Amino acid sequence: MTHPKFVSVDGEIVPYETATVHFLSPAAKYGSSVFEGIRGYWNEDKSEYFVFRLREHVCRLRESMKVMRFSEDYDENYLCRVVLDTIRANNIKADSHIRLSALLCGEGLYDVGGPVSLMCAALPGPSKTLEEKTLSVGVTSWRRIHDSAIPPRIKCGANYQNSRLGLMDVKAGGYDKVLFLTPAGNVAEGAGECIFIVRGGCLVTPSVTSGILESITRETILEIARQDLGLPIAEREMDRTEIYVAEEAFFAGTMAEICPVTSLDGIAVGSGAVGNVTSDLWSRLESLCRGTVDSRAEWRTPVYG
Ligand code: PMP
Repeated sequence: MTHPKFVSVDGEIVPYETATVHFLSPAAKYGSSVFEGIRGYWNEDKSEYFVFRLREHVCRLRESMKVMRFSEDYDENYLCRVVLDTIRANNIKADSHIRLSALLCGEGLYDVGGPVSLMCAALPGPSKTLEEKTLSVGVTSWRRIHDSAIPPRIKCGANYQNSRLGLMDVKAGGYDKVLFLTPAGNVAEGAGECIFIVRGGCLVTPSVTSGILESITRETILEIARQDLGLPIAEREMDRTEIYVAEEAFFAGTMAEICPVTSLDGIAVGSGAVGNVTSDLWSRLESLCRGTVDSRAEWRTPVYG
């Protein structure tokens, strides 16, 4: 992977190579880190780079730090500035993926809250078309982590060991991506994506108490679907077999954007092709992310203007 020239460490712009974490740190030993994956889009006509829903991402980072009992608390404006400084330091003018991480450094055990180090990098992340992103998905026998053990609601590095096991499990079976069920057997989410289906014209997604990350893309899509498309919406428990008989299904997330799920467990979803609601939602979402429409300007932070 090509890497950026500069990254941010504790608010300072430094060369990429110098941003390291010691192997005895709780971040390295136990996965004691929290992070955000954020996206930025280049708008050629406006010669501007927009960060999508930056404030919502930094708010969730602070929530993750609170839940994981990190001793530090960063100011929202400071976190936003760190992201913008990192992009400007590299003069990024292409679609990219930004990682903002708070890591437990020092040499403590499981129960320390600090010292915390804040690191940020912007990596290449070109946006793809829906046709390039269709997925065959398999349900894993690994169950999604539960709030009573390690909370999926927030983005802790260690949570992704669950994602990793499930994804490797289904990839060994020939699928592209994984779908997790909750310990009770309801649909939860993917390894790094939330799930939506269209059934009887209604857009359905598991509720935020279904063992899922409180996804910012999920909230964005629900708002677009409700307000712009006037679709009926249901946030509720979802069964695996509902996906088999749905008209459409798709994964959504900051990195994934929208990926049509064209089959689950080898069974075609709907016609097995990209659905109309899926493509309508993606074209609206993309224009909001890239700023090719003027509505909801509060979701876009311009970097250079
Ligand atoms: N679920 C999980 C487990 C994720 O890692 C992600 C990616 N952050 C998502 C859902 C989608 O969340 P968001 O829309 O906030 O990126």
